[in-house]
Amino acid sequence: MAQPGRLGASSPAQNGAISAAGPPYSNGPLQSPSMHSQVSVSQGYNSPFPGSYPHQIPAKTPLNPASGLYNYGGSQTVSSLNSYQGPGQTLNRLPLEPNPVAPLQPTVPTSRMPPPPSSQTPAAIPASSNSFVYGPDPSPSSNWQYGHPPMGSKTNHFVPVSTQPSLSGNTDMSRNNQYVSLGAPSLQNSYMKTGSSVPPPTNQTLPTIYQPTRAPLGPPPSGGPPPARSLDPQGKTSNSVPPQPQLNSSSLNQEGDSSTANNGSVVENSYDTIEGGGFMAAPQFTNQMSRNVGYSYPSLPPGYQNTSAPNMSGRPSTTLQYSSGLQPFSQSPLGANHLTTSMSGLSLHPEGIRVINLLQERNMLPTTPLKAPVPNLHEDIQKLNCNPELFRCTLTNIPQTQALLNKAKLPLGLLLHPFKDLLQLPVVTSSTIVRCRSCRTYINPFVSFLDQRRWKCNLCYRVNDVPEEFMYNPITRVYGDPLRRPEVQNATIEFMAPSEYMLRPPQPPVYLFVFDVSHNAIETGYLNSVCQSLLDNLDSLPGNTRTKIGFITFDSTIHFYNLQEGLSQPQMLIVSDIEDVFIPMPENLLVNLNENKELIQDLLKTLPQMFTKSLETQSALGPALQSAFKLMSPTGGRISIFQTQLPSIGVGTLKSREEPNQRSSAKEIHLTPSTDFYKKLALDCSGQQVAVDLFLLSGQYSDLASLGCISRYSAGSVYYYPSYHHQHNPVQVEKLQKELKRYLTRKIGFEAVMRIRCTKGLSIHTFHGNFFVRSTDLLSLPNVNPDAGYAVQMSVEENLTDIQVVSFQSALLYTSSKGERRIRVHTMCLPVVSTLNEVYLGADVQAISGLLANMAVDRSITASLSDARDALVNAVIDSLSAYRTSVLSSQQPGLLVPFSLRLFPLFVLALLKQKSFQTGTAARLDERIFAMCQVKNQPLVYLMLMTHPNLYRVDNLSDEGSLNINDKTIPQPPILQLSVEKLSRDGAFLMDAGTVMMLWVGKNCGQNFISQVLGVPNYASLPLNMTHLPDLDTAESARLGSFISWLREHRPFFPILYIIRDESPMKSTFLQYMVEDRTESALSYYEFLLHVQQQVNK
Ligand SMILES: [Zn+2]
Repeated sequence: MAQPGRLGASSPAQNGAISAAGPPYSNGPLQSPSMHSQVSVSQGYNSPFPGSYPHQIPAKTPLNPASGLYNYGGSQTVSSLNSYQGPGQTLNRLPLEPNPVAPLQPTVPTSRMPPPPSSQTPAAIPASSNSFVYGPDPSPSSNWQYGHPPMGSKTNHFVPVSTQPSLSGNTDMSRNNQYVSLGAPSLQNSYMKTGSSVPPPTNQTLPTIYQPTRAPLGPPPSGGPPPARSLDPQGKTSNSVPPQPQLNSSSLNQEGDSSTANNGSVVENSYDTIEGGGFMAAPQFTNQMSRNVGYSYPSLPPGYQNTSAPNMSGRPSTTLQYSSGLQPFSQSPLGANHLTTSMSGLSLHPEGIRVINLLQERNMLPTTPLKAPVPNLHEDIQKLNCNPELFRCTLTNIPQTQALLNKAKLPLGLLLHPFKDLLQLPVVTSSTIVRCRSCRTYINPFVSFLDQRRWKCNLCYRVNDVPEEFMYNPITRVYGDPLRRPEVQNATIEFMAPSEYMLRPPQPPVYLFVFDVSHNAIETGYLNSVCQSLLDNLDSLPGNTRTKIGFITFDSTIHFYNLQEGLSQPQMLIVSDIEDVFIPMPENLLVNLNENKELIQDLLKTLPQMFTKSLETQSALGPALQSAFKLMSPTGGRISIFQTQLPSIGVGTLKSREEPNQRSSAKEIHLTPSTDFYKKLALDCSGQQVAVDLFLLSGQYSDLASLGCISRYSAGSVYYYPSYHHQHNPVQVEKLQKELKRYLTRKIGFEAVMRIRCTKGLSIHTFHGNFFVRSTDLLSLPNVNPDAGYAVQMSVEENLTDIQVVSFQSALLYTSSKGERRIRVHTMCLPVVSTLNEVYLGADVQAISGLLANMAVDRSITASLSDARDALVNAVIDSLSAYRTSVLSSQQPGLLVPFSLRLFPLFVLALLKQKSFQTGTAARLDERIFAMCQVKNQPLVYLMLMTHPNLYRVDNLSDEGSLNINDKTIPQPPILQLSVEKLSRDGAFLMDAGTVMMLWVGKNCGQNFISQVLGVPNYASLPLNMTHLPDLDTAESARLGSFISWLREHRPFFPILYIIRDESPMKSTFLQYMVEDRTESALSYYEFLLHVQQQVNK
């Protein structure tokens, strides 16, 4: 976009490029020498007074090259990115392989997935080539493996790319910039607020000093400020571990990738060393040790068993805040029987060992929400175990060998919701965080104390010293009482991290909002809603006095807003050279929220009107993102981008790929990104601790498959509002407002990394969620939020024959919005079993379905949708076949399943009908991709709800069995099967599908409900597009209202409520969620069971 006639192009002062030096994985940005040496010297930047700006045309109209655009004259403060080593790229992974799994056997027509009902001839269905394979020895016909590292679904890690970073660098020093003051009448008439006809007097304050980018706030990593506590002599504690050798790649090849060898130097001085690696330098692990663990763990030295209960009143609340539940750690010695005999297990009701013939007992859906199975552990252990809402395993009985796991044909993996909002969270401030010297596991309730001075790690079995400080219990104020420390009493705990957990001082919360202001965007009216939401919630943004905020808008050009203190109005700065973006006066674009609140509010009130006359239809999203990235690089933080169309100019331009007549086809749809621009930029963001959240509001195809990468790899979130329009689609407006409120005010963690450890012998190899795998198994999360879920797959690498229990621990290290460095640790303990029957008995069908859904998304992308669907069906067939042949002795007729898996066929059928994987519908491509994003990023509970919704009858709600929360009565109607058979014309039924709710009202619904709840005289007067329940002063209305509010509470997405009658347009959507019924392209539940039975009994 070189512009003729620009001024000052003759003095390009090269400011120096950001050097490639610096630790690529520091939580700070790479530090450029030029940033350090940046003094307040004018660098050829000749800033005129705004009044003397050349006549400037509002950004709407195409830029006039001859209009005397102001040129910065080469004061490039943002240096070239060419030399910048892409952060996050240790490049220790192999590039994505095309499809690492064995290809389909072409001779096998399709899988065991049944054809649509019309043509169903089950007998003719050939054997599958799409089975999941659960072991190291994939059968030749398989193409989807569960438990095997070097293959399978590719997740986020990756990367490949070249060592050459992708961002276009600023090599051309000549730039064109327009400077537009919002208040300068001669320049920006269309932008002006009424009454502001006087040029702002503040123009004099326009800095004439051009300072490139803010210098990093602190010294390099090692020199962070001391924490608020004295540092205990680290030499005594297990914290002071000498530099660890690199990962042992043979046992630690945890991500399905082979190359870890080059990590060593790259990740030095990074989070990896801070948070600690995996099993590094694990001690020799003898049979003797492993045998010991099962027995020694529960038993305590006598001295510990008689400790009296802690004196609660003596609790020093300033240093320790804990949950009230201080259970004495009784640790009565457990016999082996407790841990190994599932059949007599404490957790299994007699019902749990029942074998069920699904063809006879089709209605297995419980009427209350399905709970996670309780691991079969001694109750003293189990009561300390992690809440299944936070940490869940697909198999609560861990098979002791990979061979046993393979036999079960079930996937082994974990589902995590690590940053969930918690009512109670013990927070420990202690100068000594006790961790295993070998594997860096945090001390937890499942370690064993050998004596008063030694504890044995439950992950690697190393014996560690108990640090002196740990002997003192700040709660009881008793010395020699380590077993009552909160660390060994709570499976979920948070530590205030001392300075060695910082690579740089914790950065302030920084929020940058980037708005599409093209004609199309303005037309939707979204800007108004968003600015209003921001105004409403500005004071609730998580943060403190250091919080910073900034705004960028873009169409074909990029507009920055100077919010410098002292200005009477925000000042708009336009950069028109999108080929080579740079940041004008970066120091004034991200400003302190508290100190500049009026100016910020001013801008938010003005913005929606500024572009109303815009005719600019182009969208330079890529360059806008590049600018945002540069602006945020020094501190990291959160970018929230609002986009309404396909990006059309500059880098990252996308083209439409959706072909309407192919929507229904399972093949040839574009699920993969069309460019790697967004992925690469996301990795750069990740390296600088920047996360990008995408709000896509679009009526047309916008290639979410490509755009979504910007959030996926930077640990951001994706929100999607199809057909958003402020007038035509008012429910979307409400949805956006509600979700924005949650988004803006929810907790946020910055500069985060997460590592998941597991007991030696188990191996984590594939990760699902939004993040970047930085080094082997360290997940990079520039932001972490309470609505994000993660999943990992595991295999059994070494036999667990002598082990009775295994443990899993996730550790999330983050900077809170208050600037504290914290570590949230969850630890879960599970028993190991030796028989196939026990493995089945402990199966967690929701976790299994959730993990399979994640794997199926990957499979859809690396192979095809039909492949993924086949693999889902085969997961059911294979596991139930194995159960039939290997566990059941008598071959009775029917479809026999273990009680634990009674809902497995139903949930898989529900997945096949879910938007991510369905066929034969008019599902739009972006909607499908969004559903896939949700599968990957939602906590399990919401994933299950969007897959298999809950259906309730609500016209006869009673208080029976209701909850009482904050003096509100919340009815708890029974959950019904998803079939029209369950509906009746004289009732009203609410379907909760997680992100949407539908209230179906029968034709003969009772008059009472219609008038007292719906507020209309009769059925016929129900509007066709009703989306709100009236707020009526009746008991019936209050009951339903409180039930719906309760369901909506704390959801990451705000479910719109559609009230549906027979003639409503939404009725077909409602019927689509009736998973048990046949649709034109999918089997009914009963048909599906018959099909599975036929395959199983072959
Ligand atoms: Zn250890």
